[in-house]
Amino acid sequence: MDESAFELLTPATRHAAMLFVCDHASNAVPKAYGTLGLEEGAFAAHIAYDIGAAEVARALAAAYGAPAVLARWSRLLIDLNRGADDPTLVMKLSDGRIIPGNRHADDAEVEQRLDLFYCPYHAAVAEQIAKLRDAGAIPTIVSMHSFTPVWKGFKRPWEVGVLWDKDGRLARPLMAALKRAGFIVGDNEPYKGELEGDCMYRHGSLNGLPHALIEIRQDLIATQDAAVKFAARLKPIIDEALQAMGPATIQYTRALAAPNGATPMDEKTRTELEAAAFRRLVAHLRERSDVQNIDLMNLAGFCRNCLGDWYREAAAEKGIALEKDQAREIVYGMPPSEWKKRYQKEASAEQKAAFDKANKTHN
Ligand SMILES: [Zn+2]
Repeated sequence: MDESAFELLTPATRHAAMLFVCDHASNAVPKAYGTLGLEEGAFAAHIAYDIGAAEVARALAAAYGAPAVLARWSRLLIDLNRGADDPTLVMKLSDGRIIPGNRHADDAEVEQRLDLFYCPYHAAVAEQIAKLRDAGAIPTIVSMHSFTPVWKGFKRPWEVGVLWDKDGRLARPLMAALKRAGFIVGDNEPYKGELEGDCMYRHGSLNGLPHALIEIRQDLIATQDAAVKFAARLKPIIDEALQAMGPATIQYTRALAAPNGATPMDEKTRTELEAAAFRRLVAHLRERSDVQNIDLMNLAGFCRNCLGDWYREAAAEKGIALEKDQAREIVYGMPPSEWKKRYQKEASAEQKAAFDKANKTHN
């Protein structure tokens, strides 16, 4: 019996630096687990898998020429979209139903399911990311899920939900594009995308890769045909969002992934390191008062004033109002007018020409 934990789709020819994942793709259970004590019919329902999500993931991966990693087994066996220490990793209850085959799953049983089904799946996702990175690409990860229209008596109004944590690079333009296309969009609905240890946290946030999780209401993708058609609608919307996002970069919004065995870097430490690098840059620029702002602008398109302005904008985002000169003084170490008097030289005709040629708007 083939018990591999995942299904890997690799495109014949690669086009996009993207990776699709589908954690709840399947309602199958390995033979050894029987039906987990449930009647067969239970496996056709949403508690066993995300109806239609696999078909959408397959169609999108094919359309993009991107790899996809799909779960091979039901979420009732082990939930791949949970941290390994999450209490709902092996669900004892779902939508009010007891799962008999999980009810008495002890630590050893959970450990075994982690080894057999959970770890290989996540290793496959990690391997696909590594392959794309090795090829010089920064992949964008899209996770496909679907949700049941009614949950605990509540009729969910959204047609599509976008779940995200702190990295909104793809999620924000994606929601905007979905709305423009006429969808009723849930922003972190019907679930929150901030679960530490979930699939996107693990492979997206911890690696600093752009990502989003898309939840589609199941009645919209209930048949193979509907799912394929839906994927075709989704493709230009994702294209639009990718376009708006711009080139993918590494951007950490959470603690850095730790190399094997090492203590992971927490967010506070990461922020402190970033601040240390900023302080060193500022100290360096103060030391090198011979370097003129206009030369920095001509060469790199930014100068001391820009740094001050960035500082001011970052403060404004947190509701802290700083005067322009107040913020720039943090960079100069003195009032900007004072620095100008002491160190700024009359720009040469050559410098001015270069500046005008670059057509920079700057003051
Ligand atoms: Zn799901």
